Amino acid sequence: MRATITLLTIFAAMFLGACGFSQSSSEPNPEPAWRLVIHGGAGVILREHLTVEEEAAYHAALRTALEAGAEVLRSGGSAVDAVQAALVPMENDPRFNAGHGAVYTADLRHELDASIMDGQGRNAGAVAGLSRVKNPIRAARAVMEHSEHVMFAGEGADAFAETFGLEMVENAYFGTEQRRIAVQRVLETRSRTSADKSGTVGAVAIDMAGNLAAATSTGGMTAKAPGRVGDVPLIGAATYAQNGVCAVSSTGHGEYFIRVGVARAICARRELKDESLETAAEIILSEVAALGGQGGVIALDETGAYTYVFNSPGMYRGRIDEDGVETAIFGQRNAILEGEG
Ligand code: ASP
Repeated sequence: MRATITLLTIFAAMFLGACGFSQSSSEPNPEPAWRLVIHGGAGVILREHLTVEEEAAYHAALRTALEAGAEVLRSGGSAVDAVQAALVPMENDPRFNAGHGAVYTADLRHELDASIMDGQGRNAGAVAGLSRVKNPIRAARAVMEHSEHVMFAGEGADAFAETFGLEMVENAYFGTEQRRIAVQRVLETRSRTSADKSGTVGAVAIDMAGNLAAATSTGGMTAKAPGRVGDVPLIGAATYAQNGVCAVSSTGHGEYFIRVGVARAICARRELKDESLETAAEIILSEVAALGGQGGVIALDETGAYTYVFNSPGMYRGRIDEDGVETAIFGQRNAILEGEG
């Protein structure tokens, strides 16, 4: 039985690969001095859903985030500073479901989750159900740096961040008209489209000293029950980094990512099996798919090799290193080339 499940998993992984749902670093420099890879959520993102202007705006937003992180890495800064720097502009951009632009809960509020992990020493910080911190990733970092704990939730998490001087906002700051329309629709129809479960932002990086780091931030799922906590603040589900092994940030239907323990599982396969990062990510994502979940991951290993793997038609994503920058949205490889223009 066990052998059958393993075989099914491997066939599913091969199917994902054959469908072109993964893209990796076969062409770019296999051993970069530093590299940053980001995502802005995975889901049913089809070209016909976006106007030419919207598509261009997404590419520009991804580039802004990549540049913010690259500035840190180019000057010899740390991977953990870079992933945080990349996420802040995406949290401030209403296009993404993180910070300003976060989805609404079923009671028309916003509860934000974030986590960060430094591969050096496997230090980590996470926050769940924030309602007043402007940039949740900064709160996760504060937990990692200034507390003996790994995760804070709810009012205690907001209060902790405030103590460390982070910028606080009214809960209404996070909302946008588009998100309000979406939550009303979900509450009326009692069903979510994939767009209602996407837009999370994440980053993985390797710095000049070879340190790895990962970070993820989200508003969660549209019309989620108050108090629901997704995969994003759970170290090992959405975020994981371990020097010498790999760094992962994921996005998708969080309940499935929690049950599979996606980020840690990918790194464990990479460490314990003689498998490429891409194969490890495909096998674990196929487990998510087998349970009925949709989403994707970005992953980077100790050599700087990276991969985007997703089982949805589209993921906002990009990479930057000393060789250049690429951004992509849709499921085809050529979208990467298009984004490079
Ligand atoms: N994983 C997030 C959550 O379930 C949603 C997403 O990635 O879009 O909260």
